[in-house]
Amino acid sequence: MTSSSTDTPAPVLVLVPGAAGAPSDGSAPFHLADPTTPQLSVTDLVATRGDGVFETIGAFDGKPVNVGPHLERLARSCSLLEMPEPHQETIAAAIDAAIDAHAAVPELTVRVMYTRGIEGSGVPTCWIDAHVSADWGPYRTGIRVITLDRGLSTAVPETSPWLLPGAKTLSYAVNMAAVREAKRRGAADVLFVATDGYVLEGPTSTLLVRRGDTYLTTPVSAGVLPGTCVNTLFAALQHEGHEVREELMTVQDVATADGAWLLSSTRLAAPLTHLDETELPVDHELTARFEALLSGKA
Ligand code: PLP
Repeated sequence: MTSSSTDTPAPVLVLVPGAAGAPSDGSAPFHLADPTTPQLSVTDLVATRGDGVFETIGAFDGKPVNVGPHLERLARSCSLLEMPEPHQETIAAAIDAAIDAHAAVPELTVRVMYTRGIEGSGVPTCWIDAHVSADWGPYRTGIRVITLDRGLSTAVPETSPWLLPGAKTLSYAVNMAAVREAKRRGAADVLFVATDGYVLEGPTSTLLVRRGDTYLTTPVSAGVLPGTCVNTLFAALQHEGHEVREELMTVQDVATADGAWLLSSTRLAAPLTHLDETELPVDHELTARFEALLSGKA
């Protein structure tokens, strides 16, 4: 045994034919399937057009976090793409089945994929896969982030809603290309900037900024995804008496802040050590509290 990957528990796949309501043939709304054999039709519109939506949920010590908000966001994305509404109870039960079928691990990534389905069928294809999360330890210690132009203004939800701002679509090739660009430039991640100079979000994360006792994030109305993590932290911070709000911020606003993080459901809170060439203060104690809150342990 030379590779630790041989010790990694196998991923789990759950197919959910009843994701948009009971299957017409009366079969079970979901069932376990073999993740090592092909399951997706080559004419599924996600394969031919990247047409679909998804959610990524973190499960910590076997407990998924924020399932309700993730499924509400899935429904919101479906509505933006004019796709059939997902049956939330069925998908929630399928998520539990995927986690139950997986070996017990500290951190699991659970992806809910919901596509427009086989061309002409009108029936969404849905599956859930659960796999051991990557080791995000170094990321949570602190990351270098570069700003990259997203090529769209913060008015895009009003001017060009067909660009689907704020929908979690399965066309993430651009987001992944941005992360590769960051790596090429010696950074770990990206903060997208709108053409009107305001910061937006990361390719797979939400921006959180601390200015004194106030915590800020980009307005959803600027065309970013409504993050589940930032909502969790805002609720906790507000409860503790801090001010929390959405605000349009420039790169300079972030670079001169008292702290900034990129938030996401499996990586949790990654503090920025640098934004481009500017060093930012990092509060490891506060980051650890955020981590506890976001992993459902606080
Ligand atoms: N913004 C984008 C574009 C994302 O893809 C994600 C998560 O994948 C987020 C923000 C963070 O969302 P959440 O906090 O719900 O994980």
